[in-house]
Amino acid sequence: MCGIAAYYARGDLSAANQVMLALYSQQHRGQESSGIAATNGKFLRLHKSMGYVKEIFSQDVLERLSGFAAIGHVRYPTRGSAILNNAQPYIIETLSGPIYAIASNGDIVNYEEVALELQSRGVHFTSTNDGELLGRFIVYHHEREGLEITEAIQLLMKRIRGAYSAVFLTRNNLYVFRDIQGFRPLLMGKVNDDIAVASESCALDILHATEIREVQPGEIIVITPNTAYDIPRSSSLFTSTVEPQHIHQCIFELIYFSRPDSYEFGEYVYEVRHKIGAKLASYDEFDADVVIPVPDSANFIALGYADAKKIPFHMGLIRNHYVGRTFIRPDQYLRDESVRQKFNPLKDFFQDKRIVVVDDSIVRGTTIRKIIRMIKRAGAREVHLRIGSPPVRFSCFYGIDTPTRQELIANNMTIDQIREYVGADSLKYLKIEDLRDCVKQPNNFCYACFNGEYPVPKHAYLRTSMEKEQI
Ligand code: SF4
Repeated sequence: MCGIAAYYARGDLSAANQVMLALYSQQHRGQESSGIAATNGKFLRLHKSMGYVKEIFSQDVLERLSGFAAIGHVRYPTRGSAILNNAQPYIIETLSGPIYAIASNGDIVNYEEVALELQSRGVHFTSTNDGELLGRFIVYHHEREGLEITEAIQLLMKRIRGAYSAVFLTRNNLYVFRDIQGFRPLLMGKVNDDIAVASESCALDILHATEIREVQPGEIIVITPNTAYDIPRSSSLFTSTVEPQHIHQCIFELIYFSRPDSYEFGEYVYEVRHKIGAKLASYDEFDADVVIPVPDSANFIALGYADAKKIPFHMGLIRNHYVGRTFIRPDQYLRDESVRQKFNPLKDFFQDKRIVVVDDSIVRGTTIRKIIRMIKRAGAREVHLRIGSPPVRFSCFYGIDTPTRQELIANNMTIDQIREYVGADSLKYLKIEDLRDCVKQPNNFCYACFNGEYPVPKHAYLRTSMEKEQI
């Protein structure tokens, strides 16, 4: 998972400055590296670095990125290692200089096949990241095959399978597109006469954008200096669309990844989480003394549970916000350290209480195990664990860095064995049919990490023989 943003200014605002603000609001989508590319109409400039947005983009850096249009990216690694070379955006050099840049969010499942084909035609890659593949595909078909850029993107949507929400910048134009199955969110809005684009609506809110709407799966939007921006889909902005196949938006965006103040896939994220909590509450006949979330992604799920049961909701665990998300840390050592430093129970709060602890999901089980141990040590009489998603039994290949199946606890243990392992007095997961009830259009979502029904056939995305064995 990553986050992207773009800004096309027709007023006085610096596009890079606006993109930086949008990336800052999406830091939860990736904390490893960040970058911005901007155009002044003559050439593109790029700045990217490892680390957090606020550390990378000083006023000096932003001033060097002057220009009326910019794209940006925050990264956490799925494809390609955690090195600067794999950070985005990518600038693509041509004989005319650095005149194209791309940033994307997702994971391409037929990466090797497409990369080999381009390499055989003389295209050179500088990284192993799929954002570069998308960019080089477009530039090759535009520069060498003579296609219009929109035609090259249409061809890309037919040839490249998997998840990609992307922004592609030329010296004068901005192209915004989303894969035909719509795995990852992408939204746009107006800021006076300017146009802002982001992975999540919370980033558009910070720019005071209005008329916010989602980029549709398979849609290509072109923004040029002369285009009159118009929000309705019938607008001349929408130069072309590829007919969407069956849509498979990532349900995990609503359960865990996105910020609760975001709107995406036709849903308010906080509302879906609240409904999930109410569903979980309907499974229980007993009344606990208090409900606590594992902060922050389970906050609204726990609140939904507490509201439905009419028992108190408390923030019993205090999270250190400066540690970062444990799930998206790149290796096990960092993950273990992060958990220890991340949560602290309120003193004297848990003494002799019957606690319901609500979390959004269990991946490896190591984090929740430590948390339950912590709560019991703090004096809790009983700890009942409720999970706002079905058991995660399958890996994701569409832009979320879940571990291999072997590392997923629900793939290796029964629910009762997991309960015993994590040290809870009881454990209940959300049923998949109840998760479907929590969204308006349940058939438009991917549930593959729960049921193994992959929207893109499994064999298509296995990159190495080791991965094939793991499946
Ligand atoms: S497999 Fe799971 S995490 Fe991946 S896109 Fe599908 S629902 Fe989302």
